[in-house]
Amino acid sequence: MKLYLKVLLFLLMLISVALWVNIYFSRMAVTEAMSAQINDAAISTASDLAPALQEVFKEKKELGGIKVLHAFTQKTGALYAAAALADGTVVAHTNVALAGTKLSDQLMLKAARATAPVFRRTYYNGEETVETMIPIPARARASGEDILFEGLATRGEIAGFLRAALPLTPARKAENDIISKLLVLALLISLTTLALSALFTRHLLRQVTFLGEGIRKVRDGDYYFSVPVVSRDELGEVAASFNMLSRGLSETTVSKQYLDSVLESMPDPLIITDEQGAVIKANRAAADFSGYDFLPPGSVNLKDLLETQAEGAADPFSLLAWSGHIKELDLWLLSKSGARLPAMLSAALTGTEGKRQVVAVLKDMSQHKASEARLAQYLKEVETVNSELDAFAHTVSHDLKEPLRGIEMFSGMLLSDYAPKLEPQAADYLGRVVKASSRMRRLIDDLLNYARISRARNPYENVSTAKLAAEAVAGLSTLIEERKAVVKVPETLPEIFCDPVKMRQVFQNLISNALRYNDSPAAEVELSAERFGEYYWKFSVKDNGIGIPMQYSEEIFKMFKRLHSRQEYGGGTGAGLAIVKKIVEEHNGKIWVESAEGKGSVFFILIPADLRKQP
Ligand code: ADP
Repeated sequence: MKLYLKVLLFLLMLISVALWVNIYFSRMAVTEAMSAQINDAAISTASDLAPALQEVFKEKKELGGIKVLHAFTQKTGALYAAAALADGTVVAHTNVALAGTKLSDQLMLKAARATAPVFRRTYYNGEETVETMIPIPARARASGEDILFEGLATRGEIAGFLRAALPLTPARKAENDIISKLLVLALLISLTTLALSALFTRHLLRQVTFLGEGIRKVRDGDYYFSVPVVSRDELGEVAASFNMLSRGLSETTVSKQYLDSVLESMPDPLIITDEQGAVIKANRAAADFSGYDFLPPGSVNLKDLLETQAEGAADPFSLLAWSGHIKELDLWLLSKSGARLPAMLSAALTGTEGKRQVVAVLKDMSQHKASEARLAQYLKEVETVNSELDAFAHTVSHDLKEPLRGIEMFSGMLLSDYAPKLEPQAADYLGRVVKASSRMRRLIDDLLNYARISRARNPYENVSTAKLAAEAVAGLSTLIEERKAVVKVPETLPEIFCDPVKMRQVFQNLISNALRYNDSPAAEVELSAERFGEYYWKFSVKDNGIGIPMQYSEEIFKMFKRLHSRQEYGGGTGAGLAIVKKIVEEHNGKIWVESAEGKGSVFFILIPADLRKQP
């Protein structure tokens, strides 16, 4: 019910009660006044008839009494009249049957005690009357007013009482007249009051109505809504505070529409469910992905749409109940069309006990799966091409070696068998052919070695790198002796899981370089290893050789890349470090050099301690 109607109803009740009380008491007052007036008229008549009555009381003659009483009834309209002695004995009565009886009722007793006339309102033969007892003094008195206002001096002076019942009906008519006028007046006043109150209340509640509308708008998420301030009272102040509050909310709170539009524009499917999985809300991406429109809320249960990919895995809702959130769980989404779509689910439980909701974000993994499959296919193709290339290099190298060996052999024979017959110029040319072909053979050998690295798959095992390094050093003993060098291999070098044949070659190539690219009269090579993080060992091969300009720190690891002329420093082919790099990378490791020209070099190798463990 509207507030102003309540106020009006309350006012109506208030006015009705006031009206009723007013009329009740007015009526009482009027009745009282009318009764007194009737009584006064009777007293006045009685006073006029007092001498005759005194005579009646003195003589105690009924007949004379009746005459006087009739005169009284004629003047006053009394329904009956009686003359009684001071002790109540009725001398005369308009109803002759009652002559000689004795009055002993309340009115009589009251009159006997009082010194002034008494009356009461009562019913006589069903008619409302004023029954009066007027004392008549023993001696003649001046007027009814004397009896009224002065009373009787003493009890002994009363000759008797005039008793009569005076009808109230005419008085009642006047009374009703007055009351009905009063009623009309009161009704007019009430209606005016009500109308004014209605207007005033409506005016007063205008501000409240605006406030109500404002609250509704804010509840619906329209935080920018402000209420017109139409009154300058406390309600106006409330409205102004409300506007400040909504402004504050608009600045600090993300509106529902804004949030909805963000959710709708999300590229990933987002679904909000209750704790049992009934879908309360879902964005467009979710509808597009699944084929369901999820309307009306609660019509679809997310539990029915999700299927775990892993055999026997716990269902997502049990996981949620247990941990409160799920991160990137691979599963199948059963679409409306019946297709099983690969998806990744991340979800979290929100809200308070009893009002929990699940916010689930799905990722459509169809494309991801397709690209994964494509990638695997490419990798396979690359591997095939690589191994074909390796095989090609291997065959070509082998095939090239054959004619080369012929060239080398026959040009050598030419040189040795026909040297005296040859012109010096021709002998020089032949010598060059021999050298060029032997260099070509070494190049082909290194190329073969390089190609063999990927082809050769030796079993991986746990080996001590101290042992591998020692074997490498043993293989280089002639060079070490020649160079009068010192190679330090600590026994504490660790065990690693690797291809031992290839790793031995790594140490051999690095130590060999450290000895060869060294002008120092006392060449020194030092190996060491330290732990690098949880998964790696960092090996270093340090020398006191010629050093490497750092701008070539990357170049030197390329195939056939040398920083010196063919003859210098043992005339290598430039394949050694390329082979080392390939082996290290095959072991998921990394190689680099730190050096300065003329100050020696340190080659570092980072290699997993155990390839089987993922870093
Ligand atoms: P090579 O077979 O010619 O020795 P590498 O691939 O082993 O070829 O080395 C490539 C180049 O790197 C070498 O020509 C040399 O200039 C440089 N180099 C390699 N190791 C060292 C070292 N320890 N000190 C100085 N220079 C080095």
